[in-house]
Amino acid sequence: MMIEPVTAAQTVHPIQDVLNQIYEKYRSLRLGVPATYIPELAKMNPEWFGICVVTVDGQQFSVGDAQQLFTIQSISKVFVHGLALEDHGREHVLSKVGVEPTGDSFNAIVLDEQSKRPYNPMVNAGAIATTSLIKGNGATDRLNRMLAMFERYIGHESHIDMSTFMSERTTGFRNRAMAYLMRNFGMIDDRIDESLDLYFQQCSLMVNCADLATMAATLSNHGKNPLTGVQAVPSRHVRDMLSVMFMCGMYNYSGEWAYKVGLPAKSGVSGGLIVVVPGRLGIGIFSPPLDERGNSVRGVKVCEELSERFGLHLFECEDC
Ligand code: GLN
Repeated sequence: MMIEPVTAAQTVHPIQDVLNQIYEKYRSLRLGVPATYIPELAKMNPEWFGICVVTVDGQQFSVGDAQQLFTIQSISKVFVHGLALEDHGREHVLSKVGVEPTGDSFNAIVLDEQSKRPYNPMVNAGAIATTSLIKGNGATDRLNRMLAMFERYIGHESHIDMSTFMSERTTGFRNRAMAYLMRNFGMIDDRIDESLDLYFQQCSLMVNCADLATMAATLSNHGKNPLTGVQAVPSRHVRDMLSVMFMCGMYNYSGEWAYKVGLPAKSGVSGGLIVVVPGRLGIGIFSPPLDERGNSVRGVKVCEELSERFGLHLFECEDC
């Protein structure tokens, strides 16, 4: 048996200490169920649970299944919105996708009555519209531009899970219906099937929660990856990305989330969650069981507690 020497480095950092405590507290929580409407997601283990934090000065903390890979799902929408802003600028993106929160579910087939735009880039319809804006010379070039964009945030290459992609591609009739409806109103162009494929591919990108924390920390750090120093997105777009996350990132729980946790965040149906603490740190959480709105049950609990314990709410005050 190896006996590790006791060193000063073994003193537990306060962030690590709180992560350990919160992890222990919520790992036995058995509420919610993993998504089943995408057949590949139904295979996920409901016990998987990881929490990671990356600070803007590059410190990393993690607990639990931090290395477990899963598909990023809707969290991709934040970053593809950023790429659309980069490709076309704010005014053009705004002419195709609104920035209004919606009280409807993430996969609602609904467009704004007046403008015919989808409500915002964080729900499926809006995300399909932002994906359709991604520039490139054909399907492969567009996919490669998107993968290069994700690599800047993550800090290493990552791949598309072919089974999940095929699973979504063959069962995603709702998303297809939205795309055709938006084509009817001129919100997306003629590359309907190509853009849908790109959308299903972005949702099937494999990440772990350490990657998610790095991506979130990059947004906290004005678009510059704190681990690699790479500028993942021009800083001028980060404000728009975070504003939309703050108002719309947790679907029809976004209002209560902003009220209680008070931070820009985005969830996905595989059970991932990112939270941005501007100028300070990024949080990545993974736990597949979801509540009825499609947010990770443990993820929401962990964030409520982290926000409370570290006073992270954007409108925090002395006597709140
Ligand atoms: N790929 C999923 C879908 O289009 C993403 C939804 C989500 O994560 N909320 O239905």
